Amino acid sequence: MSSKSKINSSAKEALLAEKVDLEKKLEEIGYGASGLDYDVNFADSSQVTAERGEAEALANQMKEALVEVLAALAKLDDGSYGTCEVCHNPIGEARLEAIPTARLCMDCVASRSRR
Ligand SMILES: [Zn+2]
Repeated sequence: MSSKSKINSSAKEALLAEKVDLEKKLEEIGYGASGLDYDVNFADSSQVTAERGEAEALANQMKEALVEVLAALAKLDDGSYGTCEVCHNPIGEARLEAIPTARLCMDCVASRSRR
């Protein structure tokens, strides 16, 4: 097994586990695959509204993370995984191990945050 296919298969495992985890958490707070399924008959008190706002913020964070995970899985499928989206150099094994959803290499991340 080449080093690239090795990193790809471990990345795929990590990404699939994260996908399942995020989907489960979204489901738990009422933002499953069916979308917003809050009980519409639930009392419309301000407390509920505040809780809903918090849950929504959390759900949005998780949805964004899920989008990243799905994008990385799509790249694994089309073979572009592990390639920086800006400079097209390899992102690097250590970085992918730490952040399986990384889209950019360290150099591009550094130059972006400098700007
Ligand atoms: Zn780059």
